[in-house]
Amino acid sequence: MKLLTLPGVEQGSAPAQAAGFIDVHLHCFTGSAWAQQVLEQSAELRRQGFSHVVAIGMVNTRLSYDEVRTLIPGWVENRGNPQYHELDELLEHARRSEGFIIPLVDTRYLWGDVASTLSGYLEQGVRGIKGIWLTDNNDIGVKGVPETFGITSEEYRRREWEIFSYAQENDLPLLYHMDAREHADTMAAMMQDFPRVRVNFPHFGIGRKPFSKILDDHPGVYTDMANLISHLRKNPESYRDFIIHYQDQVCLGSDAFLYDMGSIVQYLEALRGLGLPEEVLHKVCSVNPRAFLGKALP
Ligand SMILES: [Zn+2]
Repeated sequence: MKLLTLPGVEQGSAPAQAAGFIDVHLHCFTGSAWAQQVLEQSAELRRQGFSHVVAIGMVNTRLSYDEVRTLIPGWVENRGNPQYHELDELLEHARRSEGFIIPLVDTRYLWGDVASTLSGYLEQGVRGIKGIWLTDNNDIGVKGVPETFGITSEEYRRREWEIFSYAQENDLPLLYHMDAREHADTMAAMMQDFPRVRVNFPHFGIGRKPFSKILDDHPGVYTDMANLISHLRKNPESYRDFIIHYQDQVCLGSDAFLYDMGSIVQYLEALRGLGLPEEVLHKVCSVNPRAFLGKALP
């Protein structure tokens, strides 16, 4: 990684911890064999002005490889637990990083009673929750959760509602992947039932147009630009306007994997390339991620 002039930070004034950048959206896919690389890349990001990254780890307590693989996009290169039971190793990476890596549990394969299962993960050290709305018709082209689990859509909906309820009641950040182009009504229903939940619907809600209404109606909803770097570069004016308009709701997010955190810096560069005002950059990279994470920050 090369050194950059850092956007959005008044260098030398505010303490690094308070002003540091936070990427709210990484995935684990990284086993203990990569522990040294994770530490080195974390140290490099710290040097570049980052104070934290949020990393998501899956739990898989009952599905076979073939069953579990159908819920992950084909392009993902997994360098972690072959059954995608990642949490133990993610928590180990987080411990070694001394607070730099903030671990979230991915509830895609959550099985059993939602509240007691999540409480168990929190006791182990998880700081927040990741979810994904994966019905049989979904934007990442994978098999849905109801079909994979052999449950009805109603049972699936109930499980996701319990996840939202748990996040709201326990004041936890919830990163929830959902496609507003197909599921805006369900999204709106979730927000109506859980108006106090601190949720980030990432990837600009997959479709900015249908998602804008959610952002307008719920000023406490966050979003991020994870996995959208090519779109930012291709269409800078449009994304610049969007980010300025929703400057109190957009967070820096990359979708990077823990074994390849160098790509996070490319997101900073892409944001800088949009020509955003310094104040807006500071909100996106530091202020909004802190507000979204709340007490999940160490
Ligand atoms: Zn993601």
